[in-house]
Amino acid sequence: MGKLDFVKEEIERLKKEGLYVNIKTIESPQGAWIKVDGKEVLNLCSNNYLGFANHPVLKERAKRAIDEFGVGPGAVRTIAGTMKLHRELEEKLAKFKGAEAALSFQSGFNTNLAVIPALVGRGDVIFSDELNHASIIDGCRLSRAEIVRFKHADPQDLKKKLEEYKEHPGKKLVVTDGVFSMDGDVAPLDKYVEVAEEYDAITMVDDAHGEGVLGNSGRGIVDSLKLHGKVDLEVGTLSKAFGVVGGYVAAKKEVIEYLRQKARPFLFSSAVTPPDVAAAIAAVDILTESDKLVVKLWDNTNYFQTEIKNLGFDIGETETPITPIMLGEAPIAQEFSKRLFKEGIFAQAIGYPTVPKGKARIRVMISAVHEKKDLDFALEKFAKIGKELGVIE
Ligand SMILES: *Cc1c(COP(=O)(O)O)cnc(C)c1O
Repeated sequence: MGKLDFVKEEIERLKKEGLYVNIKTIESPQGAWIKVDGKEVLNLCSNNYLGFANHPVLKERAKRAIDEFGVGPGAVRTIAGTMKLHRELEEKLAKFKGAEAALSFQSGFNTNLAVIPALVGRGDVIFSDELNHASIIDGCRLSRAEIVRFKHADPQDLKKKLEEYKEHPGKKLVVTDGVFSMDGDVAPLDKYVEVAEEYDAITMVDDAHGEGVLGNSGRGIVDSLKLHGKVDLEVGTLSKAFGVVGGYVAAKKEVIEYLRQKARPFLFSSAVTPPDVAAAIAAVDILTESDKLVVKLWDNTNYFQTEIKNLGFDIGETETPITPIMLGEAPIAQEFSKRLFKEGIFAQAIGYPTVPKGKARIRVMISAVHEKKDLDFALEKFAKIGKELGVIE
């Protein structure tokens, strides 16, 4: 028995159970059409909601930043890694979000690992939606606080759980995704805010999939539900609609000042690179100036979702451009995805354990980079394969 035998055994188990992830290589920039394994395919699975990942203005600003500031930050933020660009990004993000201040991190994942353990610890309690993102779950675990899961998108259940802990002496934190990435549904954040106020709990939303999508010009869930100043911490990512990489948190000035002193990935991991920061600033500038791309994203979404439903497909409870095409058992979803790829469409099959058993699906991600003819092409292929596999009539 070798001490690393478990590695091989686990890989074999994953393959046998159909859970092994085959990673495809993209050989072109992100866009409506991309090159995958040597083949041009319509891209229906990226988070590049607004086309910023290959936007000419973002690319130009990134290049200029390299000339002006170089490629690396040289240090963590607290030592010598805070550049003028990081400050500018944080000021612009705060303004864009209608918050007092913001702090940027290396990724959205890192932001959750940074923020949650800085807020709560042993003796405190976190109330977390049962379908929250992995990075929230890991941030909660890292904090050593007690974790209480409440039923997905259920303010009544949250209230019940908070009531159970009414006499608990520790701090309380309510945390949720803004938009849930597998179903595209939106958290009832306004209700959570009401309930949390009653029990004096801190509120935090991770708006990774709402950023650049919901609210006025993509200002996110807090803007769309008119909750400015009522949610204590808004986490966002710069790697989805914003098209680059990085994460941030927006909050009251003192909270951001506190996180600058306490958030470990901020203190112990190097800052984001100058070209990345410059490109992210450009994304904020573009959204601040115009909602054109966000409007196109929603036009595309409404068109595709109406038409795919007319074909007889079930798209669940989505309220966003995330469009799950519900197919039931995992093998059908996998076969569907394979046939789509043959027909020139790149769309991911998602099964257990990412989603519950019997709820396997193809997840279609709509983007502003799609043209109507792209969406029509996709609809035609979905109809053809749907009939072949007996999913629709
Ligand atoms: C994608 C996602 C993240 C991770 O963001 P990165 O910037 O890619 O690290 C965090 N939270 C949620 C809810 C997400 O959907």
